[in-house]
Amino acid sequence: MARPRAEWRCNHYSRRVYSAAMKPQANNSPTPEEVQKKLSDFMKQQFGDKAVFVSVPNQPERAATDEPGEAAEEKPLTFDFNFKPKDIKAHLDRFVIRQDEAKKVLSIAVCDHYNHVKLAETGRATHEYHKQNVVLIGPTGVGKTYLIRCIAQLIGVPFVKGDATKFSETGYVGGDVEDLVRELVARADGNVKLAQYGIIYVDEIDKIAAAAQNIGRDVSGRGVQSNLLKLMEETEVPLRSQTDLTGQLQAAMEFQRHGKIKRQTINTRHILFIVSGAFDKLEDIARSRLREAQIGFGAKIRGEIPRGDLLRKATTEDLIQFGFEPEFVGRLPVRVVCDELAEDDLFAILRQSEGSVIHQYEQSFRAFGIDVLFAEEGLRAIARQAATERTGARALLTVCERALREFKFHLPSSSVRSFVVTAEVIENPARELEKLLADPNYEPQIVARMLARQWAERFSRKHELTLGFDPDGVEAVVERALAAQRPVRDFCDELFKDFEFGLRLIKKNSGQNEFILTRAAVENPERFISDLVVGSYRSKQ
Ligand code: ADP
Repeated sequence: MARPRAEWRCNHYSRRVYSAAMKPQANNSPTPEEVQKKLSDFMKQQFGDKAVFVSVPNQPERAATDEPGEAAEEKPLTFDFNFKPKDIKAHLDRFVIRQDEAKKVLSIAVCDHYNHVKLAETGRATHEYHKQNVVLIGPTGVGKTYLIRCIAQLIGVPFVKGDATKFSETGYVGGDVEDLVRELVARADGNVKLAQYGIIYVDEIDKIAAAAQNIGRDVSGRGVQSNLLKLMEETEVPLRSQTDLTGQLQAAMEFQRHGKIKRQTINTRHILFIVSGAFDKLEDIARSRLREAQIGFGAKIRGEIPRGDLLRKATTEDLIQFGFEPEFVGRLPVRVVCDELAEDDLFAILRQSEGSVIHQYEQSFRAFGIDVLFAEEGLRAIARQAATERTGARALLTVCERALREFKFHLPSSSVRSFVVTAEVIENPARELEKLLADPNYEPQIVARMLARQWAERFSRKHELTLGFDPDGVEAVVERALAAQRPVRDFCDELFKDFEFGLRLIKKNSGQNEFILTRAAVENPERFISDLVVGSYRSKQ
């Protein structure tokens, strides 16, 4: 069995101390990086692979010498809260597709929480308040983290995400839950006061509960729960961790310089905690409880209850049976279920979400001066493939990356300046890339096809009927437009100028409302429409 590795953490705010106490006096004095390397080598020598010297980035330099509360006084608090639940929901709607129930419940919980914080901070809170900590239940990649991240961004508080399975009870092996609180300070650029209003998100919480339940012994899951519980209630977390070797060195140096150590702590009273997980076995627990209740009342057991409904019906008792400590569950009064995303939802995410991955691709190609255009059928193909991966919206990036990686590699060094992501690009990227690189006319044809189809859609909408090209019809119109060197939409307007009147007449005569433009229609539109009109008169008789 692998022996546990001890970790000492080295925070970057120690640089300040290095720079004060170890500032290169002469040219051969060590830089902070050199000191760090030397410490790291020393650890390796002493303890081999059992110890690692970890550098935690982004720790604020100034925090190291702050007096308690000093950060808050020096840096004015920029956080204020004046949102209403509907404002938050409207913001979430711009980014997160579906999960309407979660959006609503979270919007309310967040408003309650921060309104209370405001009252408490101004000494106007008159009643006892139970913090609105949240349990988010749902499969991976459906927007649980995204919802919270968007909320934190909107209201301007720092947000930190951790994984429950990475923590240990002692913090000696793996991380310490208190690190999450310290990380909030880093995210708030050293503003301790703002960090105290932050949001901490702990993922995979179900894993630490299930450990206690399944294995039958406490594999530190219970310990981590009680550590988290302390944070959720109210505690003072020291800004410097006990296991942070450099933090301790820094304290020692400070002591040397000033004869005392300044202790600064972060209060967790107003930090909002969100825990989340898939809770795979919770539905079984809820199901059997519901069955027992039904049998108890002599009712007949009806058909299967869908997973989402079962999870929504899960009670505090069910969560305790799942493996959580009652006190822990008690501190998580808000429970929200996020649903699995189907192919249509993934398609909607690509098309509508302001955070859609396609913007990322547009931007990366634009950096090379290349325009990328995502066709509807291309988006559909991405969503279709992603839905089979069963990792929710995360799969959208996987599918795009798989299909477009080679494009990203080759196109910047080619003469191609624009390309369209069609269904073929997603389904057979290598072949499409080859065609694109081999034939300079290949791409204009794809764009022209898209424009022709778009013209037909707009015509349909405008005249309240359905007009479309068949595949050969599209090819024909593209050939003709390109040969005439005309913009496709203008070319179609002109080619089918009599269609508006003709099709309306046909609709009136025969009720026909759907029309397909074939190659024949493109090559001789007058004959095509007049034959249809004559036919419609015949059907009228
Ligand atoms: P999880 O549910 O596992 O916390 P995330 O919220 O981290 O999943 O989702 C991963 C990424 O997938 C997000 O950053 C976001 O880009 C995208 N995503 C997931 N769900 C949605 C959704 N419902 N609407 C829009 N984008 C989503």
